[in-house]
Amino acid sequence: MKSNNYEQLRTMPNTSPPAALCASLKAIRHVALDMDGTIYKGGTLFPFTIAALRALKAMNIRYSFLTNNPSKSAREYLQRLHDIGIPASADELYTSAQATIDYLQVHRPAVKRLFILGAPGMIAEFEDAGFVSTADDAADRPDAVVVAFDTSLVYPRLCRAAWWVAEQLPYIATNPDRVCPTDKPTVLVDCGSICAAIEHATGRKPDLVVGKPNPRMLEGIMKKYALRPGEIAMVGDRLYTDIAMAINTRALGVLVLTGEAQREDVEKSALKPDIVVNDLAEFCAMLEALPINHYKPV
Ligand SMILES: [Mg+2]
Repeated sequence: MKSNNYEQLRTMPNTSPPAALCASLKAIRHVALDMDGTIYKGGTLFPFTIAALRALKAMNIRYSFLTNNPSKSAREYLQRLHDIGIPASADELYTSAQATIDYLQVHRPAVKRLFILGAPGMIAEFEDAGFVSTADDAADRPDAVVVAFDTSLVYPRLCRAAWWVAEQLPYIATNPDRVCPTDKPTVLVDCGSICAAIEHATGRKPDLVVGKPNPRMLEGIMKKYALRPGEIAMVGDRLYTDIAMAINTRALGVLVLTGEAQREDVEKSALKPDIVVNDLAEFCAMLEALPINHYKPV
């Protein structure tokens, strides 16, 4: 049974998907959820989120939280989700910092010492994974540079990162985002913009940007749950990260209009989502409105 609360929070009276989409929707077994702009904005949980997650569970559709924002460690994210009323386990969360650690361990096993532009929680996460975080010192030479959304950024460390990049060390960025969404009167300068400053100073772009739209983020989840591309939907608020990644992995791309992108952006963009909905609740309602709801256990 759907809760009354959920019924009240539905945003569109007619949620039946077009016939052509029904087959794609019926195949969905897992929903990868962007976080900021999709389940909350800044510090504010959307009023429909908890009911929408319950609805997915009721349909036997698993979900994972996927974020490009590495400024909090996985532990901090889980605590934050818990604090706003979303129970989540460690295996339901995948951040771009975790994806960067996975990338380095699998593809760059010789890299142990990193100069990291990142928040303290993220640096601790790398240290917990066995990496050494080198000091802001020209004598403390790292094996590679990792640049992230560093909310504790200070000028000398930015200069040190640029120095190692100019020295041609391997250079990895956690995520391409230019800004981080916020409901506060400020612009949160994100990893992509910090990399742009380094590029302006050194002429080098990162060798690899690990987060969305790099398929690596979604492929990890697909591998973990043995999913084929058509069985996973990527739900997010950004065309150039969430939807681009869905296209890159042939997952179902679902754009929500609760964050960055608006309908007019979709018209202008070459990155076309499979579905555009007002919010996550509307997407869940679409799944529930399928002619045969085969998700429910017999
Ligand atoms: Mg987002």
